[in-house]
Amino acid sequence: MSLEILFTGTGTSVGIPMIGCHCPVCTSSDPRNTRWRSSVYIRTAKTAVVIDTPPDFRQQMLQFKIERLDGVVFTHAHADHFLGFDDIRRFNTLKSAPIAAYADPVTLAEIRSVFHYIGNKPSAQGLYRPLINFHEAVEPFQIGDLRFTPVEVCHGVRMTGYLVQTAQASIGYVPDCCGMPDEAIKTFKGVDLMILDALRYRPHPAHFCVRQSLEVLEKIGAKRSCLTHICHDIEHATLAAELPPGVEPAYDGLRIRLPGAAGSAAPDTDKVHASRVQRESAL
Ligand SMILES: [Zn+2]
Ligand SMILES: [Zn+2]
Ligand SMILES: [Zn+2]
Repeated sequence: MSLEILFTGTGTSVGIPMIGCHCPVCTSSDPRNTRWRSSVYIRTAKTAVVIDTPPDFRQQMLQFKIERLDGVVFTHAHADHFLGFDDIRRFNTLKSAPIAAYADPVTLAEIRSVFHYIGNKPSAQGLYRPLINFHEAVEPFQIGDLRFTPVEVCHGVRMTGYLVQTAQASIGYVPDCCGMPDEAIKTFKGVDLMILDALRYRPHPAHFCVRQSLEVLEKIGAKRSCLTHICHDIEHATLAAELPPGVEPAYDGLRIRLPGAAGSAAPDTDKVHASRVQRESAL
């Protein structure tokens, strides 16, 4: 059974274009330079999960025609990773059931305090609210046929990356990171696909820059690696041309299927262009 990952957002906290910026990247006509806040949609034939619900969550779901969700997994409680959570409620209606949400204990407490009105019982006043079964992610856990192993990394706040596995394939997802302990590198070692923070070329106190990200990716030694959480200092095609074999910048709409023959992992470029046109016509 194949495991598919769709990059629903690959941008840093302000997204690209940034409000009020007229730089060449923010005004680029290449759709790969338009980035929503970072998140991924992972699915098998049986199970569909999002990691993080950014402020763009509703538009991401509409853009990529996502109509199924069995669980949501959070990395940390920075605004760009969870403020779209309320829009999960449409998936309760589509699924006719509460949805499971997982986060490490610190992140879970913060999310629950911001979204204090969210629980697993319908509102007595008939208000349309999400129905969520919250779980602390301290040990590996299972959503359908996807197994998640929480992996703590450095980001200035409590930040949990995930190793996501099926019987045949493995993905590491760490969108925000300024340091990866040896233990974490060991957990991700040799995964089929590693997705890692690479904010920009210059160093940043809370994020890896491209050079640092490449150093860690070399230690992990994934079969294929993608850079994410990118800011407007990075022009997609320019960075893509500079990276070593096996490493590429992700972009919104990139789909990767694992395991698969070489051809099946190729991005569907037409779809990306179509999405951009659709997005522009919606403005
Ligand atoms: Zn972030
Ligand atoms: Zn800009
Ligand atoms: Zn963050």
